[in-house]
Amino acid sequence: MGLMPYENEPYLDWSDGTNVEKMRAALAEVGAALGRSYPAIIGGERVETDGEIVSVNPSDPSRVVGRTARATEREADAALETATRAFESWSRAAPEARARILLRAAAIMRRRKFEFLAWEVYEGGKPWAEADAQVAEGIDFLEYYAREMLRLKDGVEIYAVPGEESRYFYQPMGVGVVIAPWNFPTAILAGMSSAAIVAGNTIVMKPSEFTSVIGAKVAEVFEEAGLPEGVLNFLPGYGSEVGDYLVSDPRTRFVSFTGSMKTGLRINELAARRTEDQRWIKRVIAEMGGKDAMVIDDSADLESAAADIVKSAYGNAGQKCSAASRAILHADVYDEVLAKVLEGAQALKLGVPDDPGVSVGPVISDAQFEKVSGYIETGKGEGERLLGEDPGDPKAGYFVTPTVFGEVDPRARIAQEEIFGPVLSVIKARDFEDALRIANDTPYGLTGGVYSKNRDHLERARREFRAGNVYFNRGITGALVGVQPFGGFGLSGTDSKAGGPDYLPQHMLAKTVVERF
Ligand code: NAP
Repeated sequence: MGLMPYENEPYLDWSDGTNVEKMRAALAEVGAALGRSYPAIIGGERVETDGEIVSVNPSDPSRVVGRTARATEREADAALETATRAFESWSRAAPEARARILLRAAAIMRRRKFEFLAWEVYEGGKPWAEADAQVAEGIDFLEYYAREMLRLKDGVEIYAVPGEESRYFYQPMGVGVVIAPWNFPTAILAGMSSAAIVAGNTIVMKPSEFTSVIGAKVAEVFEEAGLPEGVLNFLPGYGSEVGDYLVSDPRTRFVSFTGSMKTGLRINELAARRTEDQRWIKRVIAEMGGKDAMVIDDSADLESAAADIVKSAYGNAGQKCSAASRAILHADVYDEVLAKVLEGAQALKLGVPDDPGVSVGPVISDAQFEKVSGYIETGKGEGERLLGEDPGDPKAGYFVTPTVFGEVDPRARIAQEEIFGPVLSVIKARDFEDALRIANDTPYGLTGGVYSKNRDHLERARREFRAGNVYFNRGITGALVGVQPFGGFGLSGTDSKAGGPDYLPQHMLAKTVVERF
């Protein structure tokens, strides 16, 4: 296929007035479409359910963004049955044809970019630049996985013995259950789904309850791109109501999950149990939480280290699995870096993300607001709160001010547990060795960073920093598809590396066929 080489989708320039105008127009247009209802889509049919999920705007929870179906086991059963049937034909579709649907979906998402950004603002509470980076990532996944399928469609080279031909290639696996989180509702949902689909599988796609309207929009894009009915079955529902059913069902061949450690471990455990009619070991691709650290040593460029700590800690209100939630500072530079971090964090603008000047929006939900508020209370007993106020009334929006705790003990709860909000724990280390030990001392291992000009320190961290994505002398968030394949070690997941060369094969069965002549 003649295609342009892969390139990341460029970000919008908000200093360009035309983009600001387009965004305002999209906010007005989507604003007028709030409150609508979105059914489940099973085999191309719109399916209404008895109950509904009401999705609200986290900046103003009294505003309903939309209502979606609320699947029960009955709809989950129908979705799995439909996906099982559709697998028969979709698994035989030419890989090129499957890839073209992703390319078309990317083009549609690009054309509808401002509309998607507006949904991200209303339902995801995202500042404009964050929304843009995320929709760009969604487009990247579609473009990248399409090309990856074309690269892998004939298998990969292996050796042979004389007189024989040996072939090694990939086949579709079966029905996948795709379960996504709310923090990157466009990108992660589109990414996990497109990888599964382009590999020749059919899926049941369950978005997060908090961003199920964006889930419906992602489903729309695939439909508009011409994906045959039954290949993607859109099943909004509560994880607590349909999750176990979907994961345990013998028709499910694999589960592609992104979310918290707790849910991921539960899915892994349930999926491991074989039910009577099951003829395979289910595969679980799990991307889970993090307690990511940035280490700053005494040789670092302190100005830019502090700026990148602020960016990595508070982007998307700290609701990134890759967010820097621990800053581990060498004792000799502790005071100076901390002062700069406080200055940077203080300058952030918290507010309703309806204009480009807002850099920190609300956290996603009441539950998340309560969780983060709880950790702020805990933090007051575990460190010194140097920045941040007690969260106000959640009825006025789920806003939490950027918070910094200083002199935090590395074993404190706020230094060990994922908070997933705009809260940074600053930890003092004796030396680089101590800093690296502290960085590695959590059950997670997703992202990490080192700021240093010391070659020995960087080489040591290259080997010993126990994280799936390690960054030197830069921020630790915003992994680019195809450039920074993403996924964690330890209890951060199965190291699946989304947006990388090893991702698609996890959605396929590798087969070796040998013929003697
Ligand atoms: P979550 O509570 O674990 O939910 C994730 C998804 O799982 C949601 O769709 C949820 O549905 C569903 N779910 C809940 N219970 C389930 C069950 N018993 N069986 C099957 N599915 C179930 O996580 P979240 O709060 O949405 O997302 C934040 C977490 O995701 C953080 O820990 C973050 O670090 C992690 N994350 C990781 C990555 C990565 O690449 N490693 C990327 C992004 C986010 P409901 O919405 O209905 O509960």
